[in-house]
Amino acid sequence: MAGILFIISAPSGSGKSTLVSELRKQVSGVDFSISWTTRAPRGSEEHGREYYFTNREEFERMRDAGMFLEHAEVFGNYYGTARHSLEEARKIGHDLLLDIDVQGAAKVRAAMPEAVSIFVMPPNPKVLRTRLRNRSRAEGQVNESELYRRLSEASKEIENYRDYGYILVNDILDRAVAQLEAIVLAERYYRNSEPIAYRSRRVLEVAAACRQPNSQERLKPVLEAFGILNPSGQQQLNFEEDSDDD
Ligand code: ADP
Ligand code: 5GP
Repeated sequence: MAGILFIISAPSGSGKSTLVSELRKQVSGVDFSISWTTRAPRGSEEHGREYYFTNREEFERMRDAGMFLEHAEVFGNYYGTARHSLEEARKIGHDLLLDIDVQGAAKVRAAMPEAVSIFVMPPNPKVLRTRLRNRSRAEGQVNESELYRRLSEASKEIENYRDYGYILVNDILDRAVAQLEAIVLAERYYRNSEPIAYRSRRVLEVAAACRQPNSQERLKPVLEAFGILNPSGQQQLNFEEDSDDD
């Protein structure tokens, strides 16, 4: 049985890593591709767990040797997915999850149109700002310019949502985790006829509601909050911190 390739993208701070780590606790048989990056480790991150950390010279050497399935420069650092990750997962028939940015996702989708792509959104810019700030505080390194950089990229990244098969709005964590799990189980059911037990109907409904064409009503307030639905582009993003968030 061939594994399924899942791609997950989101503006930084939306909660993608949190969702993926919850998914891994609840669903077996999904391997997580550990990317290579030239960015410095954050907080408690460890080499070989969240990322393989390297320098630009080594990354460029690997890139030139064709070791990456895709690579991109994000926030001034290189990130890349090793071909090896995909080969390993294929060998053992596991699903593989790639946590990559919108540029990397476009490259993988072009090469592997059968991949299942999922875009995670924060409910609004204020919540995103609060989450980014809380994460920086927890890691003991609030870097205002880095924070601002990640926030200002968010709406540009969100504009790519139409290229993704599924959309998750990560507002209430438990609900978003259940939706992500439902997408994985539903795709296994459709592609591999894998049984999904007594919850099957509910799981299929939850996953279907997250399909991009079925998400328009749910997305409208999110897109408005990020100024994306305003055709004049005049709307100002509101990054004021909301004291009662989170
Ligand atoms: P990403 O991987 O998308 O950059 P993270 O998973 O690191 O984001 O999450 C950013 C911050 O937001 C973390 O501090 C995380 O604990 C928090 N967070 C994630 N999802 C939620 C949620 N649904 N509600 C509240 N806080 C969340
Ligand atoms: P962070 O520095 O917050 O961990 O990640 C920043 C961005 O880089 C996120 O959007 C994340 O998905 C993306 N990213 C992580 N690994 C890869 C990768 O291997 N390839 C690409 N293209 N993007 C990646």
